[in-house]
Amino acid sequence: MIDSSNICLPCGLCCDGTLIGYVQLDREELHVLKDLMEIEGTHENGFFLQPCSNYCDGCTIYSDRPKQCDNFNCGLLKSFEQKELNYDSATEVIKLVKQKKAGIEKKFTALGFELKSKSFHFKMVELNKLLQKKKSVASATQNDLELLSDLEQLDSLVSHKFGVSLY
Ligand code: SF4
Ligand code: SF4
Repeated sequence: MIDSSNICLPCGLCCDGTLIGYVQLDREELHVLKDLMEIEGTHENGFFLQPCSNYCDGCTIYSDRPKQCDNFNCGLLKSFEQKELNYDSATEVIKLVKQKKAGIEKKFTALGFELKSKSFHFKMVELNKLLQKKKSVASATQNDLELLSDLEQLDSLVSHKFGVSLY
């Protein structure tokens, strides 16, 4: 029987830094998680940046995963569980997001944008700011405007299907 794990295992977009830039941790889970991953800001409530070091074709610390991960149920998964979307349609959406992501990565690399963030999610925040700035001072090239349009299309797709925004 096909269940949610058949959707999530080949997806991983909420663990690989595409949809989410960081995961917030509660103080009480820090003592377990600090031995399993690199945590930032451990004074009170810590967090870790995506892409998650424990993602490898699934969560390698599944039984100890943070509460935020355990509670996260994206819009795509909800639609599948509520039978509004079948398996084939859900996997097509995931494939489309990955294709658009790869296309954007190829374009910003070719255009010479040097983005500092590790995750695709925060790279899109950086890139959107840079492109919007160029557009506002009328220095954006046709390639820049096409890339901005690609970003907007991907953001619209993930907002609509997954219920999260890239920026
Ligand atoms: S983004 Fe949604 S479908 Fe993909 S792995 Fe995360 S919860 Fe599962
Ligand atoms: S801890 Fe597991 S569920 Fe959470 S982001 Fe990392 S791989 Fe994904």
